[in-house]
Amino acid sequence: MVTDLPQHPSQGNESDGYWMHYHDQNSEKLAAAVVDYALDRIRLDPPPLDAPKSLSQLQALVGNTITPEGLGGLKVLEIFTQHLARACISVDHPLFLSFVPGAPTESAVLFDLVLSASNIYGGSWLESAGAVFAENQALQWVASLANFPSTSSGVFVSGGTAGNLSALIVARWRWRQNGKGALDRVRPMIVSSSSAHSSVGLAANAMDADIVKVEADAQGRMSGVNLRNAVASLDPQDRDRVCAVVATAGTTNLGVIDDLVAASDQARELGAWFHVDGAYGAAALCAPSVRHLFVGIERADSFIVDPHKWLFGPFDCCALIYRDPDTARRAHTQRAEYLEVLTQQDLGDALANPSDLAHHLSRRARGLPFWFSVATHGTEAYEEAMEITLQVTREATALIKNAPYLELLLEPELSVIIFKRKGWSPEQYQTWSDRMLNEGRAFVVPTTFNGETILRFCIINPRTTIDEVADILKSLE
Ligand SMILES: *Cc1c(COP(=O)(O)O)cnc(C)c1O
Repeated sequence: MVTDLPQHPSQGNESDGYWMHYHDQNSEKLAAAVVDYALDRIRLDPPPLDAPKSLSQLQALVGNTITPEGLGGLKVLEIFTQHLARACISVDHPLFLSFVPGAPTESAVLFDLVLSASNIYGGSWLESAGAVFAENQALQWVASLANFPSTSSGVFVSGGTAGNLSALIVARWRWRQNGKGALDRVRPMIVSSSSAHSSVGLAANAMDADIVKVEADAQGRMSGVNLRNAVASLDPQDRDRVCAVVATAGTTNLGVIDDLVAASDQARELGAWFHVDGAYGAAALCAPSVRHLFVGIERADSFIVDPHKWLFGPFDCCALIYRDPDTARRAHTQRAEYLEVLTQQDLGDALANPSDLAHHLSRRARGLPFWFSVATHGTEAYEEAMEITLQVTREATALIKNAPYLELLLEPELSVIIFKRKGWSPEQYQTWSDRMLNEGRAFVVPTTFNGETILRFCIINPRTTIDEVADILKSLE
């Protein structure tokens, strides 16, 4: 600890309003406590699962924290570590198998601290050339996994929802542009699937676009047949309204991949943009054992993948990649007097203002923790970690098939397993799920498939072991 620092504060007349931006001995103490806590959190193997508390419980435990005088950093940190953090489920617990978990690498988490300390404005090359340079290398790796050309580029946005919206705004921009004025007052239309993520519908809403929902097949996929039929049944006026075809590479509920080649063919025929939502699944592009399932993604105009899901980055981080970043730049660049200097400068990379590639302006350089981790461990480590999770998925699937009290509902394509406990009512699933959470053992919530309550595992954490999964399966007996 640095000791010859000014003493804060009450000795002098200055209040915290002066001191809170200056480094003093209290800052040193607080820094040590914060870093100690951060280290303890990543040391835990596994971290406690934890569980939510009710509003009245939190009110009783924590009370009001916002006061005129302030509580002091050590006290507030204690409130967080003792009460608030414990009321947040650990997404990176190896038996958090609901939704899509997260499993950031230690190096990514550590670098997130560095990023926060640096408070980089990640919107423009002028202000953050170094950060953008590094983020772009990480994006280039992701793009190369999909066999995109080296001229492709993109930006890290907050999540898949923001990524899908930003890509579809570009799709609409190009469609209107191609209409040369004829489509300026025409409502756009997006072709997607009934198993697409809800964020595609949300984007359509935000854009005031109609959506054609292709009925997914029995395995939850948008098949070529269903897609062709849906497109064929559009009347000529509606065909002209289609600005984008959206396919999913790894649906959230079932983890299956749409027919990407058929989707690309239909998009081309309609003259529409082809976007692939790989928020969860496209991470597996780096896994040799399943890479073939993604054939067709190389034809997309844009795709997304969330490093905060299966690419071992911390929240919040979605890689949004465009085949032709110039179109995206023209659709998204904000013009304002005070921003002119950012769009006019050319420091050798005119396309490299991340702000210009999505629906945002100010941004955290949120791709840096992911970049740091990939640069640290190398891409082979990512392939290996991905294969570990796929292998555990395969072994867990075999256990389910062999358990007489369980029924596998779908052969997994990626790392989502859906299955039934024979004879259970929805209430029994919920009771079991609550018990697992209350005992701090696992977080597995029931979901539905064809209208039936079922269980779903999503395995993305390389620290999830088959023995732990076997234990959870046993508890269903
Ligand atoms: C998770 C997910 C999204 C949404 O991503 P967020 O990062 O939660 O906004 C979109 N599409 C798919 C397929 C997803 O799995």
